Amino acid sequence: MIKRKKTKVVKIGDIKIGGKNPVVIQGMAKVLTEDYLSCIHQIKKMREAGCEAARVAVKNMEAAAAIKKIKSKIKIPLIADIHFDYRLALAAMDNGADKIRINPGNTTKKEALREIIRAAKANKVPLRLGFNSGSVPELHKSGDVAQSIYKYALRYVRLFEKCGFYDIVLSLKTSDVLSTVKANELISREVNYPLHLGVTATGCSESAVIKSAIGIGALLIKGIGDTIRVSLSASPVDEIKTAKRILQAAGVRRFLPEVISCPTCGRCQVNLIKIAGEVSDALEKRALKDIRLKKLTIAVMGCEVNGPGEARSADIGVACGKKFAVLFKKGKIVKRIKISEIKRELLREIK
Ligand code: SF4
Repeated sequence: MIKRKKTKVVKIGDIKIGGKNPVVIQGMAKVLTEDYLSCIHQIKKMREAGCEAARVAVKNMEAAAAIKKIKSKIKIPLIADIHFDYRLALAAMDNGADKIRINPGNTTKKEALREIIRAAKANKVPLRLGFNSGSVPELHKSGDVAQSIYKYALRYVRLFEKCGFYDIVLSLKTSDVLSTVKANELISREVNYPLHLGVTATGCSESAVIKSAIGIGALLIKGIGDTIRVSLSASPVDEIKTAKRILQAAGVRRFLPEVISCPTCGRCQVNLIKIAGEVSDALEKRALKDIRLKKLTIAVMGCEVNGPGEARSADIGVACGKKFAVLFKKGKIVKRIKISEIKRELLREIK
């Protein structure tokens, strides 16, 4: 069991981040915020996929005004992402934003930050202080990215605390996995605010997913992290699906039944890749209708010699021969079934 660090609880709209609350999945819309109809549509799709809080970029007053319209049509908290101009943060709060994400590294004037703090207190809106390696001025001098971003973030945290503001969520992101992990470990030792995890600018396709999974996953299994956002050069729905898989693989949340399938080898006499894929898809569909199934672990193994033993931890599974497979429960064989009947039999057994 992972022992999560018990951080301060911060309320964002109707949800809570930190403490013993589940690690929240955040997503970010990728259309113009001022095109509020497209934005609403995209956030609804993200929510259907499992997004629990949505962020939108607010880069002008039109986008800040759109917050009100978007918020009235979505059922998850809405976070405004602000850079440079503190007045956009004030306008976003006036329009009902549930949280503001600022990068203190580019909202550098102290008086501007104090204005944001004053408004956040008055509106009871939390602030995410989001630090990206790109906006840390000392970075290139020291050469130690993790130390630089950590020290920089801590300096701002103390400044906000001096202003009597504690409704803080923190994020320290770089595009490099190791420095992201190190920076978050350092800040986690020093402060008790909830941490928003992510590896930024990961790139495309599988390597981006792997970077995110290693960076976010390494922290999650150490008990660090209260909310995550996966950043991919892909659709926001894909980001949410990846976030769910990372959380499940790290063992901090469960969304779907776990399917164990072997890599196959020379002992395998069937098309296991196809069978496992079909079983996995069918289970996923069934689990969306019946959430009790998400707790199950189901094994699809390529041979009877090693299959039942290797998948002993599974609630139920099959190990394939040439024409028949054995169906087992908790490692014990209960019957023989035809290979062609595997999907149907497994679905029948888990009813
Ligand atoms: Fe090979 Fe059997 Fe192990 Fe699959 S379960 S990898 S087929 S030995």
